[in-house]
Amino acid sequence: MSEVETKVGKAVKRTVGVTIIVEPPAHMARYYGGRANERLHREIEVWAKEFNEWLHDHRSQDTVIVRTERDIREFCTVCNRELERDHDDDDDRDHCAWCGAVIEKGGD
Ligand SMILES: [Zn+2]
Repeated sequence: MSEVETKVGKAVKRTVGVTIIVEPPAHMARYYGGRANERLHREIEVWAKEFNEWLHDHRSQDTVIVRTERDIREFCTVCNRELERDHDDDDDRDHCAWCGAVIEKGGD
């Protein structure tokens, strides 16, 4: 009778994407009040078009903030897939839902 080999992996964080977010001037903030409708989309599109024109002729005094947002996710070091943790109450440890490896606590 052979023992089943226990795979042990770690969760590693990797950046999988970067989103660039442009925050329009404060007076546009009213458009974010949950009005996710056709008119809102049109108004945002109009603003974006005007913003592009502003980039070409930047005499406007409006404050525009461009920031980036990284999409960082955990991956299993054994199977290399994006980590989905299964918690095993018997051994009180997290396992990778894909390959079953025990995920060591801690990591980066
Ligand atoms: Zn895995």
